[in-house]
Amino acid sequence: MLFIPYGSKYTAIASGFAWRRVVCQHCGCDFVYRVTSSAEGSSTSFLWLNKNEAKAGANTQANSLLEKQLIKASLNICCPNCGYYQDYMVKDIISNARFLRIGRALLLVIIIGITVTCILQYLGFNNSISLLIAFVLAIIILLFRIINYHEKDPNQDAQNRINQSYSENYPVLLTSVLMQKQGEKKAENLEK
Ligand SMILES: [Zn+2]
Repeated sequence: MLFIPYGSKYTAIASGFAWRRVVCQHCGCDFVYRVTSSAEGSSTSFLWLNKNEAKAGANTQANSLLEKQLIKASLNICCPNCGYYQDYMVKDIISNARFLRIGRALLLVIIIGITVTCILQYLGFNNSISLLIAFVLAIIILLFRIINYHEKDPNQDAQNRINQSYSENYPVLLTSVLMQKQGEKKAENLEK
């Protein structure tokens, strides 16, 4: 296929952050955590006309996408005062863990199934008997894992998470501290 150039494509990347406010349902601590995101926008100037409009279009698209992403963004962040996760975070943590667990269990069943089938065939069993034995064994292992499963409460070790300091993994501030900082920033800008 012959490629005929017809214009230029402009891409813009916008990145930013927002604060999410949480009032802890266990201890009442009022805190904020930081969410970050980035988004890409693009626009084409056909026949190399309206280049500036195309650049601005790419920027606008990236910024509006970023804004939407930041509104939706959330993290499972524990309370800085008591270390507890809020109920809706607990649900999310458990369902993420469940998803991972199901994936791991299926992988295990497939690996055991293939290994057992190969061993039995090597030992001289015919194909269908090898498959049947491997299948039954895989089901037994799966049932065993389901029966032995205990859902871990993410708030069980809340105590260990008290007084963590601000970091990329734990971007948390007390709401009053953030407001104070923002106030200082505003005052600084006014002075300039
Ligand atoms: Zn708390």
